[in-house]
Amino acid sequence: MAVSGIGPYDPQNVFARILRGELPCNKVYEDEYALAFHDIAPKAPVHVLIIPKGAYVSFADFSRNASEAEIAGFTRAVGTVSRQLDLEARGYRLLSNVGEEAGQEVPHFHVHLFGGRALGALLP
Ligand code: C5P
Repeated sequence: MAVSGIGPYDPQNVFARILRGELPCNKVYEDEYALAFHDIAPKAPVHVLIIPKGAYVSFADFSRNASEAEIAGFTRAVGTVSRQLDLEARGYRLLSNVGEEAGQEVPHFHVHLFGGRALGALLP
């Protein structure tokens, strides 16, 4: 049985094309392991997507198959972006949709970073 959120990876997905520079993005941060950019349809005053440079379909794929260096580098990048956007004092929310039931639209692992307002108890 296919596992939702695990390969095969489609190299033509929109975030792969952004990583290759074939499509533009409104970049916030980039390093060896991660790229962060503003979501095109923001659901909060701050709504940034953070994606790993490696080809992983979802968190499920990333957590199984990425190297320790990629996992550490990506996690550090998420923290760096939150500080760069000055969100630590007031707080923020991280979210990652995995597979079908979560409604994952883009099949390249990404973390949503929301902030800039009281987000409430429910997911945005
Ligand atoms: O987690 P999920 O896959 O549903 O989220 C995909 C997100 O990618 C959406 O919030 C959508 O607005 C965003 N997106 C984007 N730029 C694109 C395509 C999608 O910021 N070119």
